[in-house]
Amino acid sequence: MAGLDDLPPLREVIAAHGLSARKALGQNFLLDLNLTAKIARAAGDLSGADVLEIGPGPGGLTRGLLAEGARHVVAVEKDPRCLPALHEIAAACPGRLTVVAGDALDLDLSDLLTPPVKIAANLPYNVGTELLVRWLTPPAWPPFWDSLTLMFQREVAERIVARPGSKAYGRLAILTQWRAEPRMVMELPPRAFTPPPKVSSAVVHLTRLAAPRFEADPAMLSKVVAAAFNQRRKMLRASLRGLAPDIEAHLKRAGLVPTARAEEIPLEGFCALARELSGTGKPED
Ligand code: SAM
Repeated sequence: MAGLDDLPPLREVIAAHGLSARKALGQNFLLDLNLTAKIARAAGDLSGADVLEIGPGPGGLTRGLLAEGARHVVAVEKDPRCLPALHEIAAACPGRLTVVAGDALDLDLSDLLTPPVKIAANLPYNVGTELLVRWLTPPAWPPFWDSLTLMFQREVAERIVARPGSKAYGRLAILTQWRAEPRMVMELPPRAFTPPPKVSSAVVHLTRLAAPRFEADPAMLSKVVAAAFNQRRKMLRASLRGLAPDIEAHLKRAGLVPTARAEEIPLEGFCALARELSGTGKPED
């Protein structure tokens, strides 16, 4: 029986199935199987894991994930034109690839997956950020996934891994680093894709933490961080004025300097302020 290695090159798959890239679906395909194998390896040891892949397109990364030994891959694709090519991959590794047709933003696929679950995707950038935020903010922690390996516009990847004091530091860094350990693992120039996008890309690998790094109510933390970074050049006592009438006293009790600006405050400081504003004070109180 034909296996993964017997599948035709991706350029032939694209020609055979008429998969001209559609801008509206953010289609910039990876056709170099060495590159997709490298991205699959960045997802870590896949043997014994189920992988959720969003936006498989013609299946380059899907092939990489299967070749790297994923126990089972569930691949969700919005473009029906890609489905026959994906079914050919499924036929080459019986029982290991489930293709789901639909919009990943509308589907909850956790029922199709058995832990441990890893998520991998080369997605349109806007969908990727939306899904990242959803995966990081489930109703309860820990979430259904263990790690995320995701392609982003390089600038977004920099915002995810940013440290305090840098221009890229903001809501995305705090949301991510509160509950996960993100690392930028690969940078890709536009020419790595067909057709090439206008900007460079980067792969970020995130491992979830067993519990958030510092205690805080998620809704309060999100409120504090949104207010602080909506006016990132203002001092905290001004940008956070709407959160409490005596915000300056709250800031001091949380150990923060009221004249500091959002980008100077480490994650721990925002969590301390969220606890202070929720009336829970120090974690051990
Ligand atoms: N993973 C493939 C690769 O690396 O060559 C394709 C990457 S291309 C950047 C993004 C893929 O995501 C396209 O195949 C597109 O049709 C699909 N897509 C876009 N929006 C989607 C959505 N909301 N849900 C599922 N798939 C989506």
